Amino acid sequence: MRFDILTIFPPLLESPLQEGIIRRAIQDGKIEIAVHNIRDFAVDRHAMTDDRPFGGGEGMVMKPEPIAAALQHVREQAPGGRVVLLSPQGRPYTQQVALELAAVEHLVLICGRYEGVDERIRDHYVDEEISIGDYILTGGELAALVLVDSITRLLPGVLGCAESAAQDTFSRCLLKNPQYTRPRVFAGHEVPAVLVNGDHEAIAEWRFVAAVQATMTRRPDLLAGVSFSEKEMAALRKKGMLAAIGEIIGHPVAAVSGKAGG
Ligand code: SAM
Repeated sequence: MRFDILTIFPPLLESPLQEGIIRRAIQDGKIEIAVHNIRDFAVDRHAMTDDRPFGGGEGMVMKPEPIAAALQHVREQAPGGRVVLLSPQGRPYTQQVALELAAVEHLVLICGRYEGVDERIRDHYVDEEISIGDYILTGGELAALVLVDSITRLLPGVLGCAESAAQDTFSRCLLKNPQYTRPRVFAGHEVPAVLVNGDHEAIAEWRFVAAVQATMTRRPDLLAGVSFSEKEMAALRKKGMLAAIGEIIGHPVAAVSGKAGG
């Protein structure tokens, strides 16, 4: 998969792209990332990328010509590509959106700054706007990194077994189960006994029930989209949790065959 990132601050992106799983994905040829300095495409002799807003008002607006020229440059290097403008006004970014974008072969990410980007870029050059949350960042670079990071780890072969994405929080409308590592007793607190008894079936059931419990407590809203296998339903029934889940989602829980853990 290829990412092209348009920014006026390329150094902001350097270090995060040179570490850990992203670095390995680049080395292994799973992803290719090109960072383009929008300033290189400025049309005036002062290399201006922003200007005062028409109609007056606070702050500066990113000029359209350098961004359009940078997009043209990207297209000449790699035709096609879905153009995404990072923006607090965009579609909310979720794991589901990450999965959708992981199926795209080429993403072009535009990082705004100041008061944002001239609206004509959004209207005529952008396929979609994405927001990483209901808060305002100083620029789109951190948001672009969030997309690159979360999409890359979903690409085939990027994560090893030890880092598998299949059991991650949100992978099936459930938070991930609690995790423990050595030492077995830390500051007087023991890990749950079931995790050290070697009974893999009991461990799998404990993890599933613990994931549902965590979701009920911390993110009950997620349960609206969840479905369970007969086997999972039986485990929840044993713990007296089915009725409580039914109350949260507003209707009785129905079993769906063939789900994970079934
Ligand atoms: N004045 C704009 C508004 O109120 O909608 C906010 C501009 S913000 C200071 C500058 C840039 O940061 C935006 O153009 C966008 O690229 C990026 N940005 C800020 N918050 C973001 C968010 N929640 N998600 C994605 N990008 C964001």
